[in-house]
Amino acid sequence: MSKAKVAFFDFASCEGCQIELTNLGEEVFLGLLDHLEIVEFREAMSEKTTDPIDIAFIEGSFTRESDRARLQSIRARANTVVTYGACACTGGINALKNHQSDYLINVYGKDAMSPQLDSQKALPISAAIKVDYQVHGCPVSMKEFVYIVSHLLHGKEPVILDQSVCAECKKRETVCRYTQGDHCMGMVARGGCGAPCPADGVPCEACRGLMPDANEKALVKVLQEKAGLAKEWAETKSRMYTANLRSDK
Ligand code: SF4
Ligand code: SF4
Ligand code: SF4
Repeated sequence: MSKAKVAFFDFASCEGCQIELTNLGEEVFLGLLDHLEIVEFREAMSEKTTDPIDIAFIEGSFTRESDRARLQSIRARANTVVTYGACACTGGINALKNHQSDYLINVYGKDAMSPQLDSQKALPISAAIKVDYQVHGCPVSMKEFVYIVSHLLHGKEPVILDQSVCAECKKRETVCRYTQGDHCMGMVARGGCGAPCPADGVPCEACRGLMPDANEKALVKVLQEKAGLAKEWAETKSRMYTANLRSDK
C-alpha cells in the first residue's frame, strides 16, 4: 500500500503544536513514517509542495484576509483537512485580542504600527475553509492526534466522545481540586485529553475549549462560591482559551 502524503501548515500560532509533534517519541514517530510520507513540515524539513496531498494538517488561527487564498489552495489540494491545536480549532489564545483594542501598543510599544502586525480578528481555520477533523488542545493532545491519524489511514471514522474533563478526571480517581481549596474548569471543558492537569495537581483551564452547551452561569457561580474567586475574575476566568466560544464573544 502506498504511503499517504501529508503536509503540515502553520498560520498565526506559537508553533508549539508542531514542536509537540516532533516530541512524539522515536518509536511512535517512526511508526507513523511507515504509513506517512511527509511532504511539507516547516519545523522539521525545508522542502515545500504544491502537489495534491492526502491529509493537510493546519496549525494556527486565521487572522489575515490575505491568508484566505493560501488556505483555499491547501483545501483544493487536500483530500482531508485536519486542524490541530486550539489556535486552529477555535482561535485559541489568539482570540483574546478580539476583545482588546490596546494590545498592540501594550505589547509592541513604538513598533505597534509595523505593517507585519496588521491583522484582523483571530478566527478558527473553519471560518475560511471546510475542516474535516479537529484535534484540540494547547498544545495539541498527541494521543488524540495519533488516534485520529491512525483511523484516517485505515479508512475508519474516528469516534470522539462528547464528555467533559471532569468525567475523565473522575475515571482516573484524581482528587478534585475543589477539595484542595483550588478552582478548576473541568466541568465545562471539552474532554479527550485524559485530564492530565488535575492529575498533576493543577486546575484544568479548558485549553481544549468548552463543551457544547457549557453552562457559563453555573461555572461563574461555582468559581465564586466553591473556589472563592472574586466576581470579575470568576466571570473572565474561562476566557483564556475560549474567547471565541463564550456567549459574550
Ligand atoms: S494551540 Fe497553543 S501550543 Fe498550539 S500553536 Fe496555538 S498557542 Fe501554540
Ligand atoms: S479536579 Fe477539576 S476536572 Fe477533576 S473532578 Fe474536580 S473539577 Fe472536575
Ligand atoms: S485538563 Fe484541561 S487544561 Fe489540562 S490538557 Fe485537559 S483540557 Fe487542557
